[in-house]
Amino acid sequence: MTFISCNCIINAVVYGVILVKIRWREVEDRPNGLYLHDTLDLSEIQRENPIVIRMFPATAQIHAIVLAGSMHVTGQVSADAVYRCSRCLTDFAGELSAELDERFVRRAVTAEEEEENFQSVQGDTVDLYPVIYESLTLALPYQPLCNEQCAGLCSSCGTNLNLNSCSCDTTPIDPRLADLKRLLTDSE
Ligand SMILES: [Zn+2]
Ligand SMILES: [Zn+2]
Repeated sequence: MTFISCNCIINAVVYGVILVKIRWREVEDRPNGLYLHDTLDLSEIQRENPIVIRMFPATAQIHAIVLAGSMHVTGQVSADAVYRCSRCLTDFAGELSAELDERFVRRAVTAEEEEENFQSVQGDTVDLYPVIYESLTLALPYQPLCNEQCAGLCSSCGTNLNLNSCSCDTTPIDPRLADLKRLLTDSE
């Protein structure tokens, strides 16, 4: 994997996490801003989320520009992933992507800016990793499904009902009828 697309991005591996940092001054010096196209290791998402069985390196396309004293970072991050279906527990290939739209200032944020999710940064470096990580984590499916029509597993014998059928009677019994059934069974 190549991580360095220009000399203003610093990528360092710290405990297996790739840090994506951009330097404020170098973005500010470019009237059209800075374009980044990078591959990022986001395997931390796999480690932290049991529904993610595999997280492949993500592609990030980011534009950063400094306007009127604040840095505006926009872009898209996407990655191939393998999820575990919440109904049938089969692993399946899926995608994960998120749009970035972040603003940073090099001072404390005002109340108004806080409402608009401005973030305060110290010094000359803006670390985009937490922003990318959070955006992708928020975009994760809550209950991944291999297919909207996934039939799931039989609650009685565990057969994958997408592949096979079973002879278990899993019809839910009306609670009023259940009482009647118990009476009939008891009197046998
Ligand atoms: Zn499924
Ligand atoms: Zn069954």
